[in-house]
Amino acid sequence: MRKITVASNWIDLHCHSTASDGTLSPAEVVRLAVDVGLSALALTDHDTIGGVQEAAKEAGRLNLDFLPGIEISAEYPQPGTLHLLGYGVDPQSTTLRDLTKTLIAGRDNRNPKIIDKLQKLGVAITMEEVQRESGGKVVGRPHIAAILARKGYVSSIKQAFDKYLAPGGAAYFDKERLSPAKAISMILESGGLPVLAHPIQLRYHNDAELERLIKDLLDMGLAGIEVIHSDHGPELIEKYTALADRFGLLKTGGSDFHGSNKTRIQLGTANGRRVPREWFDGLVGALAKEKAAAKFA
Ligand code: AMP
Ligand code: ZN
Ligand code: FE
Ligand code: FE
Repeated sequence: MRKITVASNWIDLHCHSTASDGTLSPAEVVRLAVDVGLSALALTDHDTIGGVQEAAKEAGRLNLDFLPGIEISAEYPQPGTLHLLGYGVDPQSTTLRDLTKTLIAGRDNRNPKIIDKLQKLGVAITMEEVQRESGGKVVGRPHIAAILARKGYVSSIKQAFDKYLAPGGAAYFDKERLSPAKAISMILESGGLPVLAHPIQLRYHNDAELERLIKDLLDMGLAGIEVIHSDHGPELIEKYTALADRFGLLKTGGSDFHGSNKTRIQLGTANGRRVPREWFDGLVGALAKEKAAAKFA
């Protein structure tokens, strides 16, 4: 029997389902959030909101507060990655539909190149297998990695990235990305709030460079920084908190849970840290303000 818990002080604002490259269905992610005692969740699949309707319905049934979200990759010089989270996007928005179409076209262009290269390297893998692995949803490199691991070409998903799929790997291809300005404006036009995901993954060279980037993103309309994340230790959390406060940005946080595609990450915990409930309320408050402002624009 499911435990009945009093709404907790903890939340998770960054996780993936089978709609992209997670291994639990949207409803399963929601049930797990309730089981680990969270009071609010945002689903942030890569390039799609295909899972949010199912998740929202299950969250409603289980009394879990829920925000639709999306995670998109923007242009950024290698080897860093710039991911933007969009919270509270309106599923009915035509801008959002255009955005996801563009992003998925970028994947449809890239994925066959990876498979082609793998085949040339003597790996027995087809695009059909990859489609099957993804359940017909948004195809990501973790799906390809899972097949490589299962067939014994590598010993783990991590090794699949190191050897083949990450930059420098034998079958690496980048996908076309939007500029950060375009990604931010499209999230805003979709009724959402753009948040810089896991800043550590930018691989900035020094704090000045990070600050400059955040200032630029702020001018483009950035609304928040993901302060707590599974890749952030206590010092980084302190640094990003100070930056968010200094620039008047919202603070968000989440695990970046992917189910068994990333076994070290548990829903509701990020590198031993939990994300405070106030950060969800802050996002919801900012979204309400934005909607009210849009009405009078
Ligand atoms: P894609 O969206 O297809 O470009 O793939 C991105 C996904 O691959 C994200 O979930 C990343 O967390 C995951 N990923 C990227 N690099 C690595 C890596 N070196 N090891 C494991 N997963 C990775
Ligand atoms: Zn992912
Ligand atoms: Fe990311
Ligand atoms: Fe993510």
